[in-house]
Amino acid sequence: MIDVDKLLVSLKQSNYSNSETFLQAVEEVLISIKPLLDSDPKYHKHSIIERILIPDRMFKFKVTWMDDKGGIQVNTAYRVQFNNSLGPYKGGLRFHPSVSADILSFLGFEQIFKNALTGLPIGGGKGGSDFDPKGKSDFEVMKFCRAFMTELQKYIGPRIDVPAGDIGVGAREIGYLFGTYKKITSSYEGILTGKPGMFGGSKIRPEATGYGLIYFVERMLEIEGKEKLKDKICLISGSGNVAMFAMEKLYQLGAKPVTCSGSKGMIYDENGIDLELIKKIREDRVPLDTYKKTHKDAKWTKIEDYPKEGNPLWSIPAYGAFPCATQNEINAHDAKELIKNKCVVVGEGANMPSTKEATDLFLASDCLFAPAKAANAGGVAVSEFEMSQNASMQTWSSEVVDSKLKETMYHICDKVSNTAKEYGENGNYVTGANIAGFKRVAEAMIAEGI
Ligand code: NDP
Repeated sequence: MIDVDKLLVSLKQSNYSNSETFLQAVEEVLISIKPLLDSDPKYHKHSIIERILIPDRMFKFKVTWMDDKGGIQVNTAYRVQFNNSLGPYKGGLRFHPSVSADILSFLGFEQIFKNALTGLPIGGGKGGSDFDPKGKSDFEVMKFCRAFMTELQKYIGPRIDVPAGDIGVGAREIGYLFGTYKKITSSYEGILTGKPGMFGGSKIRPEATGYGLIYFVERMLEIEGKEKLKDKICLISGSGNVAMFAMEKLYQLGAKPVTCSGSKGMIYDENGIDLELIKKIREDRVPLDTYKKTHKDAKWTKIEDYPKEGNPLWSIPAYGAFPCATQNEINAHDAKELIKNKCVVVGEGANMPSTKEATDLFLASDCLFAPAKAANAGGVAVSEFEMSQNASMQTWSSEVVDSKLKETMYHICDKVSNTAKEYGENGNYVTGANIAGFKRVAEAMIAEGI
């Protein structure tokens, strides 16, 4: 038998003692897969837990580049290749000052189970740098990307490791990274996903995570016998890739998203967020509060004015709440506010946006809770579709990709719901997602041997 509690205590006292975010993700997975571990001794016999907690390898490298004033800048970068039992390592690159080995270990670990849940042949990895693209010129971003890929290209390949975008890495960065890989290797290969369409990007990839999140939640509402999102007020945090396309899908379904946010503050627009304006703000890379110039009735709250106990965005009464910014953005106070206001469903677009305390509160309440590793898997699923298209030199239409995305999200939702039922935790999608994802990876690890 595996003593999960003992293992968690020893991890907290080990080399991982400074990896707070990674340990948060590990704790959630280990606690929720306990019923599976107790039901079959093979996981213990094959030391699956001990093996899955350590990445296959993790690269840390220096990125040196020159800014527009001729100054030499240095950043730290990483690629974590966590587990490739099911396929090539797959997971995004994040460029944000908060990037560290801890953050990327948490994201890489989560990615293993998320990718397994898609049912597709992809392993788990993650990477990035503490470089902040904000406030940099296009030329500076290009020079950083060139320096970053000069090192990263040694470790990736279409059948080895295929990164994609994440926070701070969009089409512009992917373009520069792809261009650099091509220049160094003279090889035109699908080594990145999320590429612009003109050089092999899949249709619907930018939309995939946001659309997929809403598909998942619609299916969950159906399974749990709740009203769907049509005509419902919804809260969104973030205003980046995931947030924008979650809003777009909500509008397509007749729902009304009334909030969005960024690192400087939040917008509350009772009339519904003007999505075209948000897209324009992102495209022009101007501050989010520019929104107020066009919509005088909308309320802008600066982050400095947030109450210390939580984010005021989650105190607005709504039917659905969709955190789409970053990790740990919903704390226990925010969760209590959502529950008090009778929020029916929380769907996680960002990775691990709810703290452990917030997650426990949702699970103990009537509020449905769609955890990130299942609900935001649409992005990586379409990334795998992009790999398939690149490998076969094909281009699938938007309709084909969108319908495959919807089918995949429905399939994940059904699988998660059924697994939760099977292990006596009906309605607990955290347990369902962790057990279903873990089982698929563990079976492959056992079959492949040590
Ligand atoms: P973007 O860079 O496009 O947008 C990120 C958004 O979150 C921006 O609005 C940003 O605000 C805000 N944000 C980032 N960090 C913070 C912070 N520390 N505090 C407050 N706001 C913050 O990223 P994505 O939309 O791609 O990613 C959002 C989340 O979704 C991440 O957790 C990511 O890991 C996850 N995800 C993304 C996938 C994808 O396909 N892109 C796939 C699966 C998960 P500002 O612009 O002001 O910094």
